[in-house]
Amino acid sequence: MSDSYDLVVIGAGSGGVRAARVAATYGARVAIIEEYRVGGTCVIRGCVPKKLFVYASRFKDMFEIAPSFGWTVDASFDWPTLVANKDKEIARLEAAYVAGLEGPGAEIIRDRAVLTGLNSVKLLKSGRELTARTILVATGGHPYIPDIPGKELAITSNEAFHLEKLPHSILIEGGGFIGVEFATIFAGLGVHTTIVYRGERVLRGFDEDIRTGLEAGLEARGIKIIYETNVLGLRETGNDITVSFSDGIDAPYGAVMFATGRTPNTAGIGLEEVGVALNEDGAIAVDAYSQSSVPSIYAVGDVTNRAQLTPIAIREGQAFAETVFNDNPIAVDHSLIGEAVFGEPEVGTIGLTEHDAATHGDIDVYIARFRPMINTLSTKSDRMMMKLITLANGGRVLGVHIIGPGAAEIIQMAAIAMGMNATKADFDRAIAMHPTAAEELVTFKKPSYVYRGGVKV
Ligand code: NDP
Repeated sequence: MSDSYDLVVIGAGSGGVRAARVAATYGARVAIIEEYRVGGTCVIRGCVPKKLFVYASRFKDMFEIAPSFGWTVDASFDWPTLVANKDKEIARLEAAYVAGLEGPGAEIIRDRAVLTGLNSVKLLKSGRELTARTILVATGGHPYIPDIPGKELAITSNEAFHLEKLPHSILIEGGGFIGVEFATIFAGLGVHTTIVYRGERVLRGFDEDIRTGLEAGLEARGIKIIYETNVLGLRETGNDITVSFSDGIDAPYGAVMFATGRTPNTAGIGLEEVGVALNEDGAIAVDAYSQSSVPSIYAVGDVTNRAQLTPIAIREGQAFAETVFNDNPIAVDHSLIGEAVFGEPEVGTIGLTEHDAATHGDIDVYIARFRPMINTLSTKSDRMMMKLITLANGGRVLGVHIIGPGAAEIIQMAAIAMGMNATKADFDRAIAMHPTAAEELVTFKKPSYVYRGGVKV
C-alpha cells in the first residue's frame, strides 16, 4: 500500500476523528494515527466516563430523599461493578468511533507519529514514513502536575477512572472543572473528600453567584474546602499519603489527586523542528481556519488551547475538513460557548458574568432562588439559582447562569436563544412549562436589581 495520503491526522480524539471522517467522506485519502485508544480523552478518560461516574454518585442524593416519597431503600455500593460497566460502555463507544472512521475509508494506524517535514511523518513503532498533502495535529492535552516532592504518589483524572478500590479519603488539588466534578463523584460514593485550592473561591471566572452557590452545595455534601493554600509535598506514611500544605499543616489522606489544569500535547512530536510556531502556553498557534504557521500543517482541539472542550474540538475538526477538503472555508466562532460543570449541584452557564456585563453598559439582573421541587417533601435544603442578565429595559440577553438540577440541559437551550440575539421580550413570549425549573427564565417580571453607569442600583 502506498504511504502517500491527502490527509494524515495525528491523534484520534474528538477533533481528529471528526476531521478524518469528514475528509474521507469528501473523498480524501486519509490516515489517522493513534498510539492509545480511538476516542481520545473525552470518550476514554474524560467527559463520558466522568458523566457515568457522576450519575453513580447522584444515587446518594436520591436515596437520601427517597423515604420522603415513601420508599425504603437499603443501598450499598460496589466500585468494581461501576468500573467494569463503565469500561464496557467505553469499549462500545470506541468500537463505534472505529466504525465511523472505517466506514468512509479512513485508515486507522496504531502507532506514534513524529513530524519529519512539512508534508511527512514517521511512525515510531513500525518505522514507516508517511507523506501527506495536509497534516492535522490533534494530539490533545494531558494533566498538568505541579513539580513538588512526592508528586508521583498522586493520581490525576487519568488514573481516577481505574482505581482498584476507592480510598477512604481523598485530597483534590484544584478548584476548576475537574476538581469540582471529581470531588462530587468521590463524596457521592462515600469517600471523605477535601478540595485544596490556591484561590479564595472555586471556579475562577464563573459568575460570583454560581461560585458561592456551588461552594455551599459542595460543603452541604460534606466536602471540605481549604482555600488560599497549596500542596508543597507528598510522602508515603503506611497506606496513606501525608500532604504538606503551604500553611504549615501536614495531614494524611488515602489518595491525592491533581486537578490543576491540562497542558497541550506539543512536546516530542517534531513541531518546533519543522517550524510550527507555539503560543506562550505551549499550544500550537493557529489562525481562524486552524492553519498553523506552516501552511501544510493544521491543528484542532486541546492542542491549540482555544477552549479545552470536546464540542469545540469537534466543531474545529469539522470546519477544518470543510475548509480544506470541501472548498467551503469555515472559521469557528469561539465567542459564545456554554459551559457545564457536572458537580452536585450542577452548573450551567453561558454569556457574560454579572461582573463583566456591568462593564458593558446598563444592565438588568433577574435572579430566582428556590428549592427544587424534588426536595420539597424532604428536609434537603439545597437551593437552585437562575440568573438572567439583559441589557437595560428588556434588551438583549447577555448571560444566563444556573445552578441546580438540570442546569446544563437548560443552558443548552438558552444557548440557541442567545445565538439568535434573543431579548428579554423574546424570553417572555415563550409560554412557561409548568411545573419546571426552567420556567423561571421566562416568567421574570421585575429585575432583582440593575446597574446604571456601572453602579449597582
Ligand atoms: P481548570 O483550569 O478548570 O482548573 C485548574 C485548577 O487548578 C484551577 O483551580 C487552578 O487555579 C488550579 N491550578 C492551576 N495550576 C495550579 C498550580 N500550579 N498549583 C495549584 N493549583 C493550580 O482545569 P481542570 O484540570 O479542572 O480541567 C482542564 C480543562 O478540561 C478545563 O479547563 C475544561 O476546559 C476541561 N474540562 C471540561 C469539563 C466540562 O466541560 N464539564 C470537565 C472537565 C474538564 P486558578 O483558578 O487559580 O487558576
